Amino acid sequence: MSNIQQTLSIIKPDAVERNLIENIKSIFIKNNLTIKEDKKIHITKEEAAEFYKVHQSKPFYEDLCAYLSSGPIVVMILEGDNAVSNNRKLMGATDPKNAEANTIRKLYGLSIDKNSVHGSDSVENAKIEINFFFKN
Ligand code: UDP
Ligand code: MG
Repeated sequence: MSNIQQTLSIIKPDAVERNLIENIKSIFIKNNLTIKEDKKIHITKEEAAEFYKVHQSKPFYEDLCAYLSSGPIVVMILEGDNAVSNNRKLMGATDPKNAEANTIRKLYGLSIDKNSVHGSDSVENAKIEINFFFKN
């Protein structure tokens, strides 16, 4: 039985800056995720704060919002079988040091904060995050 889902992916500023957009997209495509929508944008610190508000009590929140708004990012809707968990698996652990071989964060992440990609962590959050960037 297939279980088609959509999830939100973000290529973060460190990866856009290093021209890794096509490398990262090709990992999704090779692993049965279709890029339904994508756009390169540069968000404000206020928009980043809204997007990451679940983390507002964390010590890294201010730096995280400053970072996500520090340069262009690519936001994408990925679609495919179990897209939420498939994307999380392809991303690897939050800290690139702990990420499995051949995951995006192991291949490209620089540090726990400059870890190249974001991915929704549940179907429910995927809907909220997709709506945040792709309101019709
Ligand atoms: N982050 C950080 N320091 C930490 C933990 C997280 O800078 O100690 C950043 C990191 O960029 C991460 C984001 O905050 O991707 C969101 O954290 P979360 O725990 O949701 O990790 P993710 O879902 O991105 O793996
Ligand atoms: Mg998260």
